[in-house]
Amino acid sequence: MLVLSHKIQIKNPTVKQERYFRQACGTSRFAYNWGLAEWKRQYEAGLKPTAFKIKKAFNAIKPVDFPWVFNVTKCAAEQAFANLGTAFKHFFNGSGQYPQFKKKGRRDSFYLSNDQFKTEGNRIKIPKLGWVKLTESIRFEGKILSATVSSNADKWFISISVQLKTSPVKISENQTDVVGVDLGVKSLATLSNGETIEGQKPLKKLSRRLARLQRKQASLTKGSKRNDRQKLKISKLHYRIKAIRQDGLHKLTHHLCQDFKIICLEDLNVKGMMKNSRLAKAISDMGFYELKRQLGYKAGLYGNWISIIDKWFPSSKTCSNCGDKKELFKLSERVYHCETCGYEMDRDLNAAINIEREGIRLLA
Ligand SMILES: [Zn+2]
Repeated sequence: MLVLSHKIQIKNPTVKQERYFRQACGTSRFAYNWGLAEWKRQYEAGLKPTAFKIKKAFNAIKPVDFPWVFNVTKCAAEQAFANLGTAFKHFFNGSGQYPQFKKKGRRDSFYLSNDQFKTEGNRIKIPKLGWVKLTESIRFEGKILSATVSSNADKWFISISVQLKTSPVKISENQTDVVGVDLGVKSLATLSNGETIEGQKPLKKLSRRLARLQRKQASLTKGSKRNDRQKLKISKLHYRIKAIRQDGLHKLTHHLCQDFKIICLEDLNVKGMMKNSRLAKAISDMGFYELKRQLGYKAGLYGNWISIIDKWFPSSKTCSNCGDKKELFKLSERVYHCETCGYEMDRDLNAAINIEREGIRLLA
């Protein structure tokens, strides 16, 4: 069963709505911290605490001790105990740290179970609050499972989990099995089937224009009107460049997920590459993290396997024909020439073939 979350910004929340959100987050955090303290107390008293027992203890005293929890949805407190139980489960099976007390302002959120809210177009009804406007309506069709309201900077968001009936995308009939992807400097990507995907052409021109604008701005007096105008121009251009780049990455990830079952690529050592200024430009232009993010969620939609190769795997230095490895292979050399078997091939294609092979080996 495929579950996807759609995170939507809450549109211009009123003062009352914001107060409610903050209160519900506070209630959730309070219940979690109370539960954690209670868990420790019970444990030290020789008892065997569980999330369920702790929730019962809380519910027994809340009408007298914490009457304000009734001001918001009951889920705010309830889910906190479930989360605490999960945190301890992770701690006990070794996959997590000992649960920590939650601090205000750090990842504030509260939960809503599906019987506690309803949606209608681009609005949502929250208990004890009423209708709240959203910037868009839910993108996916299916059974709504739950929602989480959270804040980031000064904005509020709601993330709605939906269980999809069917995969919303169709896989092309001629989807072949496997592809190796070499993310490049010269082109955006080279595939092991020989295909090259060029970066977006306008980017180069726009990047040059951006540099020109930035140089000009540096020469203007700070705080002057001309400087402000220049700043606005720069931020608009930044946005345009980002949108074009994003579009290019979407086209690439769509192509990969639609046409191949298994996608192999390198886990780029971005930090190390950033030290090399020539590569740094290409990598930041490409947005490797964004590429990984897109591949991750699209693979969920299309049902692909993603095989990530270790960043130290010598994909460029290895001969894809005989397996021999060069000690040194300069970035400026565009053709791989093997001294051992005499094989010659485009540098990026050779790397893509090695990546495909290594990716399959890791999955087998
Ligand atoms: Zn060779």
